[in-house]
Amino acid sequence: MYRRSLAQMSANEEELHEMQAEEIEIHTLVSPVEALCNDGRIAAVVFERNILESEYVGGKPRITPLPGSRFVVECKTLIAAIGQTQDTSVLPPGVERKDNAVFHKADPLSHQTSRANLFVAGDFAFGNATVIEAIADGKEVAEEVDLLLMGRRRRKRFVDVKPAGITGRLRDHDLVDPPPMPVLPVQQRGMTDEVELGFTAEQTDIHAWRCYLCNYKFEIDQDKCIHCDWCIKVSPRNCILRLGTLERKESAVGADGKHLAETAAPRYYGRSLPDALKFICQEVPASEPERATYIWIDSDQCIRCGNCINVCPTGAISVRKCDCVAENV
Ligand code: SF4
Ligand code: SF4
Repeated sequence: MYRRSLAQMSANEEELHEMQAEEIEIHTLVSPVEALCNDGRIAAVVFERNILESEYVGGKPRITPLPGSRFVVECKTLIAAIGQTQDTSVLPPGVERKDNAVFHKADPLSHQTSRANLFVAGDFAFGNATVIEAIADGKEVAEEVDLLLMGRRRRKRFVDVKPAGITGRLRDHDLVDPPPMPVLPVQQRGMTDEVELGFTAEQTDIHAWRCYLCNYKFEIDQDKCIHCDWCIKVSPRNCILRLGTLERKESAVGADGKHLAETAAPRYYGRSLPDALKFICQEVPASEPERATYIWIDSDQCIRCGNCINVCPTGAISVRKCDCVAENV
């Protein structure tokens, strides 16, 4: 039950999608008016319908109750509210805070508050996000607490890069509709039941194959490439480009005076420099292959099918697997 329309909901698109996937009914333009009890237990809630006005209050349209629109919905359980801000009253006195956010001492990634031995993580630190982010945050905090207690960092992280073989991924895997998550019928749900029932082994397989295996990096050794274009001919999409030049040109200087490669590179932090160079190297049309100086694999487009490796006559294309690893030291 929501007092305005879907367009004004604070919930994001993904949350709305999940609600609909779980067959939860959403009623808009209604407000609760009264809870009705029977023998001291909740029995029903009275609602009334609203009209959206053209005047805005706090960034949202003002609502006016529609006269004579009241209706009753029976219920067994009533959840009065779902909090979406941190309860900072649990913090000890002296911890710096502003607008309900807890200040980190220096580096936000340290998770440390202005009190040296007090750390915050997850939604409490950064506002509402996903469970996955909260778990990752919790792991980082555990390492920071360990550093504080032990006086040295006992865990190191690095990217392990090693040669790999063809992945077996096919273009067909892009075109499979992901099976929807099976859910418990609404009528059978109790307060503690798991709504999502989980995928079968076959459904899991389909979902897993949709993974683009982004940690596999296909690259072309320019010293071995003879510009035969065979890899381009068998590529399933626009993943291999003929680029015209690798020279730094004056025309590639942006309005701020910085070279475009330098401007683009931070946006591509963590990826290889050629990704940034895409912005200053013009793609050569297929009709003018002689102008190409560089045959380049666009990792954003690559679906890791291995077609290019299979046809390359000079063995110029290689694939490496990159894994983030954390180890005790
Ligand atoms: S492995 Fe990547 S770059 Fe090579 S053909 Fe397949 S999609 Fe294109
Ligand atoms: S198939 Fe090999 S040699 Fe031919 S253009 Fe592609 S990378 Fe270069």
